[in-house]
Amino acid sequence: MKTKMKVLWLSAISCNGNTHSFFNYSQMEQFLEDFEFIYHPVIDSKYLLQDIVSQDIECDVLLIEGAISKEFKRADLSIVDIIQRYSKRVKKIVTVGTCATFGGIFRESGYEKTSGLHFDQEKRVDTFKSLLDKTISLSGCPVHPEVLVNTLYAIKKDITLKVDEFLRPKEFYAYTVHNGCTRNEYFEYKVDNHNFGELEGCMFYDHGCQAPFTHGSCNKILWNEVNSKTRAGLPCMGCTEPSFPRQNLFSTKKNMAIPEHLPVGVNKRVYLTLAGITKAFKIDRLEKKLFDD
Ligand code: SF4
Ligand code: SF4
Repeated sequence: MKTKMKVLWLSAISCNGNTHSFFNYSQMEQFLEDFEFIYHPVIDSKYLLQDIVSQDIECDVLLIEGAISKEFKRADLSIVDIIQRYSKRVKKIVTVGTCATFGGIFRESGYEKTSGLHFDQEKRVDTFKSLLDKTISLSGCPVHPEVLVNTLYAIKKDITLKVDEFLRPKEFYAYTVHNGCTRNEYFEYKVDNHNFGELEGCMFYDHGCQAPFTHGSCNKILWNEVNSKTRAGLPCMGCTEPSFPRQNLFSTKKNMAIPEHLPVGVNKRVYLTLAGITKAFKIDRLEKKLFDD
């Protein structure tokens, strides 16, 4: 019989959004032949949460969903103490989603000192400093199920994943979400999108698309294997970044008509030069509807 990797899915201060995203994984049957949840808050599992907190149960990987505060308890035990206990037993710890990684939306939960496991937005948190080498961060609100599952298989196969400054695997987070968007040509020639949901135009110039400075694979590994926000006509909200959630998500903040945030690695002078050149083009094809009614 195949040895299954034992996984503990611990839910901290969370909306269970990553759990729901995970349920969309298309090869779930295969996954459950290779992995076993010793505990999951929603999936039937071998042990109850009470068993998890009162015993030391064998486990290979600890998955944490949700933001962390010492004040927050599960089965009458602080989430911090549960993490400390299991972190000693496991081979790897994975923060699942932006709340577990950076604090995310639940930084505002009202619990004292709420943050991600190692980061409070961009700032380092020292509580679990000794676990840095064991941790992989998978940010996203929610995280893409394939990013989570492929990371778990990499752990199972002892493949070392190169990570960025926030411990996110470069395999999935070295790209920006802009990479692979079907609207790239509109971006290059500065053709705006006029209405959400339309197929034409880029949403960077007016509608607040954060994809050019958001790290993730949403346009490389499509959601439900078919689409992404920006392909469908909705701006990227930057949900994989430490600064998520920002305010005024659907408008582009500008100074003197220049977007305040520029694509990663592009300085203002370069942007102005390029913008000046591209403005000189007027490409009829890009001004028209893709499908004439
Ligand atoms: S809509 Fe967003 S992701 Fe697509 S090309 Fe424009 S800026 Fe890039
Ligand atoms: S497109 Fe942007 S907001 Fe949407 S899931 Fe990807 S990173 Fe998050």
